[in-house]
Amino acid sequence: CAAATLLVRQRMKSNSKWSKAMTILKEFEGRCSTPMSKLRQVADAMAVEMHAGLASEGGSKLKMLISYVDNLPTGDEEGLFYALDLGGTNFRVLRVHLGGKEKRVVHQEFEEVSIPPHLMVGSSEALFGFIASALAKFVATEDPALNLAPGRQRELGFTFSFPVRQLSIASGALIKWTKGFLIEDAVGEDVVAELTRALEREGLDMRVAALVNDTIGTLAGGRYYNPDVIAAVILGTGTNAAYVERAHAIPKWHGLLPKSGEMVINMEWGNFRSSHLPISEYDQALDVESLNPGEQIFEKMISGMYLGDIVRRVLLRMAEEASFFGDTVPPNLKIPFILRTPDMSAMHHDKSSDLKVVGTKLKDILGISNTSLKTRKVVVELCDIVATRAARLSAAGILGILKKLGRDTVREGDNQKSVIAMDGGLYEHYTKFSSCLESTLRELIGKEVSKNIVIEHSNDGSGIGAALLAASHSQYLYVQES
Ligand code: BGC
Ligand code: MG
Repeated sequence: CAAATLLVRQRMKSNSKWSKAMTILKEFEGRCSTPMSKLRQVADAMAVEMHAGLASEGGSKLKMLISYVDNLPTGDEEGLFYALDLGGTNFRVLRVHLGGKEKRVVHQEFEEVSIPPHLMVGSSEALFGFIASALAKFVATEDPALNLAPGRQRELGFTFSFPVRQLSIASGALIKWTKGFLIEDAVGEDVVAELTRALEREGLDMRVAALVNDTIGTLAGGRYYNPDVIAAVILGTGTNAAYVERAHAIPKWHGLLPKSGEMVINMEWGNFRSSHLPISEYDQALDVESLNPGEQIFEKMISGMYLGDIVRRVLLRMAEEASFFGDTVPPNLKIPFILRTPDMSAMHHDKSSDLKVVGTKLKDILGISNTSLKTRKVVVELCDIVATRAARLSAAGILGILKKLGRDTVREGDNQKSVIAMDGGLYEHYTKFSSCLESTLRELIGKEVSKNIVIEHSNDGSGIGAALLAASHSQYLYVQES
């Protein structure tokens, strides 16, 4: 009888722990909810901030940076160009042989190098030195048959995926770092000058012909193949968007009106924030403990660098306050960023009936073994909450851009396509995220308009895009006056 009482007590205790854990989960889910009405508010706020950011420097959390790209690739670009793509955990060097309208990309080669973590938080000289040396090695493998005209200086498109206040197409000062980079002495400096100095130290004679954000590169790369591309969105380690704006809709632009009448704008939407965003206490804690507190709030709810860590934080709370993983709190759960978004994605996509992948990930990464199926299901549910919120907010952001451009409605007989070039690991590899984003966008804009809005995956378009922009800003280009 005493044993039976004990058993009942234990069961009651474990039931109450379970229900405490479920309360934590449900509260979080409630905070994360993104009904259509809320997404519309977010989209409206995004469009409002876009106007404000274009009106004056510092007019909004959205910097709406002028890219100095007022002409997008046409297909006529010709010659051999290099590109360097820096912005996440890897950087890439590219060599592209452009053959003009008919032949397009005749040949391309690239190499990817991962950035040693200590260089992401070290000195500017160390980072740029590392990049320049990798580039020099890559240039050394150039096939002499590619036959650069003798004496011709090599030219480079530099994709630098951080906010930069540009002064021209090939210069600009770093505003701040994001995504786990923090190199104080580079802030405020001209990143092209830094790179050029590093190239000189390597003895490499190369000119940076274009400095572009990855969104701008992706937009240029997308436009090269499809004239209907009007915007680009990156959903990767970080997130951002760029789009083609009418020059006279940019009050803060005091330069000459470009001939094309257009200017590409780097929104830096990762820094968007609004009282309409469904921010939870976990997001707040993540922000406070981050390398850039108070900054990049939208990015911290959406992008690949952070999603896994939001999941970890909720699990930690469930472990601490509801013994979700047993009587002790698994120590690994306390390690920031130990649960990466690709692992979260693997758990979320687990199709096995016993959620074997979830079990393995929990064990291998967090050191939690022997989880029950019930527990694993909760983990999947949590991944779903975090990924769904991120995907739906991304869709709202895109709706904001369409609204700003007046492309969120359709006039009778109008079948002008609006293509959005998308790239980034989160979009590319996290299937449930991208399909949720796409279905949410369709729902937001309705069936009719949906026919005219196309989301196109631009696979690593930013590298090619930078090379294309280097080509159109080449010092050897003979500009024919029309
Ligand atoms: C940066 C942007 C970049 C985006 C995607 C953000 O953290 O601020 O400049 O475009 O990440 O790489
Ligand atoms: Mg890719």
